[in-house]
Amino acid sequence: MADFITAVYISFIIQAGGALLTAAVFRSFQRYYQKAYLTHLQWSWLALSVHLLAGAVGLYLSSTFDATHPARLLVNIIAGIAGFTQIPLVLFGTYELTTGRAVPSDRVRRALIAAATTGLVTAIVFVWKEDAGFARFLARVGLRAILSGAGFLAAAYGIWRARATVQGLGPRMVSGAFFVYGLLQLHYLGVAVYESISQNYPAYVSYTGFLDILMYFLMALGTVIWLLENEQKTAMQAAAQIQHLAYHDTLTGLPNRQLFLDRLNLAISHAHRSQRRLAVFFLDLDRFKVINDSLGHAIGDRLLQSISRRLTGLLREGDTVTRIGGDEFTILVPHLQHSDDAIVVARKVRDALKHPIEIDGRELYVSTSIGISLYPNDGEDANALLRNADAAMYRAKAQGRDTFRLYAPAMNAKALEQLALENGLRKAIANGELIMHYQPIVSFATSRVIGVEALIRWNHPELGLLYPADFISLAEATGLIGPLGEWSLKEACTQVKTLRERGLNLHAACNLSVRQIQQLDFVETISSILHDTGLPAEALDLEITESIAMQSDDDTIEKLRAVKRLGVRISIDDFGTGYSSLSALRLFPVDSLKIDQSFVHDITATSGDAAIATAVIAMAHSLDLTVIAEGVETEGQLAFLRGRGCNAYQGYYVSHPLTAEECEAVIRAHDGLPIAVKKRKTGRVAKAG
Ligand code: C2E
Ligand code: MG
Ligand code: MG
Repeated sequence: MADFITAVYISFIIQAGGALLTAAVFRSFQRYYQKAYLTHLQWSWLALSVHLLAGAVGLYLSSTFDATHPARLLVNIIAGIAGFTQIPLVLFGTYELTTGRAVPSDRVRRALIAAATTGLVTAIVFVWKEDAGFARFLARVGLRAILSGAGFLAAAYGIWRARATVQGLGPRMVSGAFFVYGLLQLHYLGVAVYESISQNYPAYVSYTGFLDILMYFLMALGTVIWLLENEQKTAMQAAAQIQHLAYHDTLTGLPNRQLFLDRLNLAISHAHRSQRRLAVFFLDLDRFKVINDSLGHAIGDRLLQSISRRLTGLLREGDTVTRIGGDEFTILVPHLQHSDDAIVVARKVRDALKHPIEIDGRELYVSTSIGISLYPNDGEDANALLRNADAAMYRAKAQGRDTFRLYAPAMNAKALEQLALENGLRKAIANGELIMHYQPIVSFATSRVIGVEALIRWNHPELGLLYPADFISLAEATGLIGPLGEWSLKEACTQVKTLRERGLNLHAACNLSVRQIQQLDFVETISSILHDTGLPAEALDLEITESIAMQSDDDTIEKLRAVKRLGVRISIDDFGTGYSSLSALRLFPVDSLKIDQSFVHDITATSGDAAIATAVIAMAHSLDLTVIAEGVETEGQLAFLRGRGCNAYQGYYVSHPLTAEECEAVIRAHDGLPIAVKKRKTGRVAKAG
């Protein structure tokens, strides 16, 4: 018996040392990894170590003192408390490790109090009821064996059940060790029953302690492996996340330019091998900037997200949709049977984006301009295909937006040209390269020049004299129309004011772009130009083209009314090309109509144009509007217009647009005023009015 006790005694001490070591390992891990479960596991192993050590001391004391001796009592109480608190601690730690959820601290506290109380009570029962066999047995080993056996088996089952999410060697080791340890504990229950009946231990029990040590070791090792596996998984997830961020757009989650180029390169080599075509689409949303500026970036972002969802939903699985910039998307369609298929896809995309997108109960309408490049025709490598699709998109934009264009080699040259022109235009005002030309406007009633139309020109350092058709739409598209328009207005008002001071009673007809009217301070700009130049408001006539006038919103109309209240007159330019209705005209604050030169041109030849001109004049007069004919080049045109009651005219018949001083000479010659100036090559002085 003494041998047996010694063996158990040594086994207890070794086990205690092992448990203490395990606790120390967990502690150092906890310092580094800061995980809640490591705290619970560390305390549980510390408790186990105390329990075993106290058990060893208790065993030692049992040979010298009887059970009621205070020293034994104290040691028993310590062993009991430590032994029972160890169970919830290890279960909580395992639960936290398995689920990733922390156990609320008040629940931990309550469980520990309950466990400690149980430990205390069993220790006391063990001492005081030395004769009460069953209670003593229960207190000594039975209760703890039942609780920890059941607890460890439950924990083993819990880990096993979570095997779908909790995988790896660590969890398997821990649950296996828990299972065996749980069985061992229940087996000790059997041993205790056997002991209380036969008053003797089965001999092998002195060795099962080493099995306990093995299980502690496996549990600890398994936990450490588990922890490291978790850390590795987190690191891998982080790496994947970083990878995703590097290759995706954060706003929409779509692939970014880099990934697009990678996939495009891959698709190109596939297409090359299988002798197939592929298509690259370059999309740029029309008017996105307007939405972003007026409704805010938050709405703009959500719009981009909806659009990207719509695009991905629309395309096949193998296709790649990318957001490569602000409102720019690209699509890679890696397999095309026929190049016409690209057009089918482009139509599908354009039509899909046409449907309104609802954001915060507001319906937003966007359209898109699409450029398409095809492999192998439009480029051999990814960069060329992308660049050419971009050039084709620019062409689609220039040709009225909401449309698509297939790449053609001429587009790149054109795009570069536009870019150079745009850069030049930015500096043109500062460099004094812009000039105004003036074309006389002659009254039918008096045959005298009553005004001049100011027409802008750009004296380009390399390209020579450029006309509005070459740069006005560029200025509008780039926003440069603001400063350009203001400069031209100021210049025209200044020069006409000078001409008036020199005795010519003229008004200045100035062309406006709708972008200028849309500017917030449009009315203030006009009135300050009048103020600064000293031109009377009555001498200023603002021309807006018919198509623009008819599209204008309430705000534009209101601004024109305000300008009109200053005394400025308003004309509708290029009339006849915009199909305006009479009723629409009536709403518009307008003083005169300018019949477009295309009607004037064939006025004497085509009966259709003659009828239109006749009708326009009659209609305008019925609305009390003055009518001015543009582009009058011949005597015949003049006679026709005079016969229909047209009020004034301008055109090469009288003079080409000329510089201010040339124009002054033409006017003086025309009106029979003194100071004759020689005829110039560029201008032609009319013989008769
Ligand atoms: P518009 O206002 O209709 O100007 C008349 C255009 O017809 C001018 O072209 C003028 O040179 C041309 N023209 C004049 N007489 C005749 C003729 O007998 N026959 C023919 N075939 N053409 C004639 P230009 O100067 O090239 O201006 C084109 C357009 O550019 C103008 O059309 C006007 O809408 C716009 N524009 C001109 N200057 C400015 C400006 O300072 N600001 C803005 N926003 N637009 C301007
Ligand atoms: Mg005009
Ligand atoms: Mg015109």
